[in-house]
Amino acid sequence: MEFKIVGDKNNKVSIKIGNITIGKDKLIIAGPCAVENEDMLIKIAEKVKSWGANALRGGAYKPRTSPYSFQGLGIDGLKMLKNVGDMFNLPVVTEVLDVRDVEIVERYVDVLQIGSRNMQNFSLLKEVGKTKKPVLLKRGFSATYEEWLYAAEYIAVEGNTNIIMCERGIRTFETYTRNTLDIAAILVIHELSNLPIIADVSHGTGKRSLIIPMAKASIAAGADGIMVEVHPEPDKALSDGEQSLDFSQFEELMREIKSY
Ligand code: PEP
Ligand code: MN
Repeated sequence: MEFKIVGDKNNKVSIKIGNITIGKDKLIIAGPCAVENEDMLIKIAEKVKSWGANALRGGAYKPRTSPYSFQGLGIDGLKMLKNVGDMFNLPVVTEVLDVRDVEIVERYVDVLQIGSRNMQNFSLLKEVGKTKKPVLLKRGFSATYEEWLYAAEYIAVEGNTNIIMCERGIRTFETYTRNTLDIAAILVIHELSNLPIIADVSHGTGKRSLIIPMAKASIAAGADGIMVEVHPEPDKALSDGEQSLDFSQFEELMREIKSY
């Protein structure tokens, strides 16, 4: 393994997102799986911010298994995210699915997310590497640590070293959970690289009941933050409701992880 840039332990990457510096403060990214409309986003932003989230997530371009599932609002979703982020002074995070969308997504959001399915989309990695926006790099659901770190290196060699690794669970023989959240990844990425790492406890479990304990486990293992899906009415969500917290559960999560 040779990670010339992301493996340089003497140059720990320091990333500022909004008012926080990752490493000093925990990055708490909360929001819906997908931006559904502006009203819901306003409700969510207000609540999650009041309980301590410091970034707002929401998909505008959704990588759905079925082409018949809700694909996201596209540019309209980006505009809603930006408006609501500005309204609440919250930096916004969204996935960029395609090389052709990097320019437009970069214009509207603060953090560019590379999804699990695109972790080895090398042309997309190079393209976000040319931007100046921090990149949230999800782990491919079948990717080894080595493959994941090489993906980060692809971004870094283009000049953008502001990379936040995100463990989001891997595919194993287990089917009860959606994915198997690999807590050890948090330690391994810190051991092998100079990059911060957060845990996506929603996609990492697929089950609402597991989110709070897994968030605590991630923080206990040294995670630099978490990502979690929050929805005012999870049962009515257009995507991923079963792994989204409602407002009172999010409040409970924040109370629980504050004591760490
Ligand atoms: C997401 O965070 O919206 C998402 C689709 O996650 P992943 O790429 O990890 O499946
Ligand atoms: Mn989701």
